[in-house]
Amino acid sequence: MSYTVTLIPGDGIGPEVVAAAVRVLTATGLDFEWETQIAGASAIGEHGTALPPHVLESVRRNKVAFKGPTETPVGTGHRSVNVELRKTLDLYANLRPVQTMPGVKSRYTDVDLVIVRENTEDLYSGLEHVVVPGVVESIKIITEKASTRIAKYAFAYARSHGRKRITAVHKANIMKLSDGLFLDCCRAVAKDYPEVTYDEMIVDNTCMQLVLDPTRFDMLLLENLYGDIVSDLCAGFIGGLGLAPGANIGDEAALFEAVHGSAPDIAGKNLANPMALILSAAMMLDHLGEQQAADRVRNAVHAVLKEGQKLTRDLGGTAGTTEIAEAIATKV
Ligand code: ATP
Repeated sequence: MSYTVTLIPGDGIGPEVVAAAVRVLTATGLDFEWETQIAGASAIGEHGTALPPHVLESVRRNKVAFKGPTETPVGTGHRSVNVELRKTLDLYANLRPVQTMPGVKSRYTDVDLVIVRENTEDLYSGLEHVVVPGVVESIKIITEKASTRIAKYAFAYARSHGRKRITAVHKANIMKLSDGLFLDCCRAVAKDYPEVTYDEMIVDNTCMQLVLDPTRFDMLLLENLYGDIVSDLCAGFIGGLGLAPGANIGDEAALFEAVHGSAPDIAGKNLANPMALILSAAMMLDHLGEQQAADRVRNAVHAVLKEGQKLTRDLGGTAGTTEIAEAIATKV
């Protein structure tokens, strides 16, 4: 069986970590046909846009994409390629597992969280305008449709993966209408899953409780912005962004990418940790039904971490991106 996958190398450290992950995926022995597409800052020169239409067409056709980070300018410049991809392709569920890795020194042990973040609306709707000079309005969109859909995704995931508890994270004490609607939808869906404990927590308190003891939580269900922030917070529990994988899932397509950004500070230096993207590749293999290969990839990452001989700088080592890829590939 051959899989045709859209491959987006991205910006910054993107091409380096993507090459590393492709090396490991090749080592599984599965047959991949990579349809390489340029998106992000690197696409602007040639195509005049960060997300050329043929990139979207490629993902629509192949239904699976594997992506390195793309740069998003702060304050000005082009809109986020990630947000555009997620919205245009309706990749509504952002799945981000956060698990303690063997051998990695971090503040906590036994962290095993699954973050489910709504990916298409909230303050990421891109609806911002200047009302009068000095006054700006940013519109937060929360709909019953998207909130119900993400809640159903989270509860179905809990059921199929034996998860016991879902905590919906909100600020409905302040945003009574928008976050209130999100909670109403979560509560309604929760009724259909009596075996999963459902509770709710205000986002600021959630951050404090997470930092005190992340092992108290099982699954977190969040709107887009809270999900973005809390994901990075949680990545810190297990050794940082170099180890945090992710998936963006829709009904028609799925896109796999790490939580981290393009890390311009270390780009082109063979310093980036490719493990987050390699673990995202394992999630892609899960999605393709290649469970055995997915487990082999994860076990190979764990083995390299446990040995502790080959680690990138973020984990206290001196190995380069390519060395890590090779070490993992030989263990797959
Ligand atoms: P962007 O705007 O694309 O999100 P950013 O620099 O704001 O980029 P990240 O790219 O996520 O945010 O980087 C945050 C910090 O984490 C940086 O110091 C970066 O070097 C580090 N970092 C991110 N990813 C990795 C990685 N894979 N390996 C090592 N360090 C990483």
